[in-house]
Amino acid sequence: MSRIIGIDLGTTNSCVAVLDDRGQPTILAAADGERTTPSWVSFSPTGQATVGTRARRQGVTNASSTVFGAKRLIGRKVNADDVSWFARLAPFRIVAAPNGDAWVRVNGVPISPQEIGAHILRRLRQIAEEALGEPVTRAVVTVPAYFDDAQRQATRDAGQIAGLDIVRILNEPTAAALAYGAHRVKEGRRVIAVFDLGGGTFDISIMSVDNGIFEVLATGGDTALGGEDWDRRFLERLVDEIFDQHRVDLTAIPMAMSRLREACEEAKKALSVAQNTTIALPFLANDHNGAPINYELTISRERVEQLTQDLLDRLEAPCTRALADAGLGAGDVEEVLLVGGMTRWPAVQRVVERIYGKKPSKGANPDEVVACGAAAYAGILTGEADYAALLDVTPHDIGIRVGDSGFATVLPRNSMLPVRARRIFATSNDNQKFVSIELFQGESQDVSKNRKLGQITLDDLPPGPAGSVRVELVITVDVESLLSVVARELRTGRQTTVTIRPSGGLSQREIVEIITRRREESTTGGEGDVVSGRVRVTTREHMISTPEPDEPEPGKP
Ligand code: AMP
Repeated sequence: MSRIIGIDLGTTNSCVAVLDDRGQPTILAAADGERTTPSWVSFSPTGQATVGTRARRQGVTNASSTVFGAKRLIGRKVNADDVSWFARLAPFRIVAAPNGDAWVRVNGVPISPQEIGAHILRRLRQIAEEALGEPVTRAVVTVPAYFDDAQRQATRDAGQIAGLDIVRILNEPTAAALAYGAHRVKEGRRVIAVFDLGGGTFDISIMSVDNGIFEVLATGGDTALGGEDWDRRFLERLVDEIFDQHRVDLTAIPMAMSRLREACEEAKKALSVAQNTTIALPFLANDHNGAPINYELTISRERVEQLTQDLLDRLEAPCTRALADAGLGAGDVEEVLLVGGMTRWPAVQRVVERIYGKKPSKGANPDEVVACGAAAYAGILTGEADYAALLDVTPHDIGIRVGDSGFATVLPRNSMLPVRARRIFATSNDNQKFVSIELFQGESQDVSKNRKLGQITLDDLPPGPAGSVRVELVITVDVESLLSVVARELRTGRQTTVTIRPSGGLSQREIVEIITRRREESTTGGEGDVVSGRVRVTTREHMISTPEPDEPEPGKP
């Protein structure tokens, strides 16, 4: 049995870790020493993919063929609000797949975000194999707590395309809590906040941890706020100043913009520990007389803080809303965990301290903590780690259509997995021949706003007046979020069973086609930084469910 690696598949950066021989999570670095990999994939005109820092650099000269932020698209419809927002901003094309899913179009070829994700996963797998010196085929991969089944399944599909068996999908805040050891400190129920400010997104999760059971009580955030906004604000100011001094518009010189953007990010990082820093960029561009502009600037942390105060102000509202959604006050939060590189910025830490009235926990590396948590979880699965049991919950309500447009919850969100619920329905017509029950996931009372999971039909019902024939519906969700539904007519015992595999948007046939195509491409020329993967189809264990007490309820499916 090969080891199971832990992967943080991030919006801006990704990271891979494994448990070392002492049972401690350890980051696996690339051969060049990089501990995180930018989640960027750049395509050459012939379709060869490059992943990571090299791809990000190509974003300057090859912007329309360089894809970033694919995690914002995975398992999503193109007409979702934040997808349209991202499509307006992104320098590459975002298009609708035939089923309405958000894909990208590069060099005229439509590509699913699952395939983009697979390139990143394949690169991380390669990093892990080189660092460990052994083949790697299995991984635990983290996703945001608010990802629905389609987004989770699409992430699994990316794994399958990359030749990685994703043995478990883990919520990012749960991974962070595991890596911080938040579950061990005390027995009994504790409330923690996981404050995650990365490069492109801000996520806040309020969780309870009770003897190894992690429950996400509420999530919130801002999908359009991250460290890159700080860099952009800083960059815009310097571009204005250079224009005032030299009358040169750097925005028309991509290479100069790229150097300046990198310098701004580096300066921001330096200023998170020092009060002042210097940016020096010789030969940044030429002025109107053809003389080189040798740019140099000494800047203080205070000045960058002033420039970005409004960004900081946007952090508070999602935190208070998440607390309110969880029905808690700031005083109920015992510990605040920091995730995401931007939480190193001292002003961000001050805001966190003001909101929660306590200093956030230090001691974990915020860029790496989620991958470390995934590795710790992998250790639980293989029995290498002695952590407490770790259970997950359903992220959204699961229920059925009632009447034309109503939604009745059968399994409320945050039900601990595995879980089972029963409902009994009576026929609504005399001599009704069949019942057909549609299952949905979501929180809206209007069923059309929720995501359809599937449908179960039981026919050949025995004849009888309306209300006399009763059908029992049993819904089970296992630890893998695999949903199975049984509909049984109570008098005859006739039943039908449906197992609903969440769909990430790609069919098995499409996934196999992508794998075959990539295999052919890699044998005819390789793909830059990525290796082609050996294919293993994800297998799922089935858990025995704990039935809940019968709960007969008349209803009309
Ligand atoms: P992540 O998505 O978690 O990798 O976070 C990346 C973001 O964190 C980028 O915007 C980085 O510029 C930012 N970041 C990383 N290190 C630091 C630091 N020392 N100070 C401020 N921001 C940082």
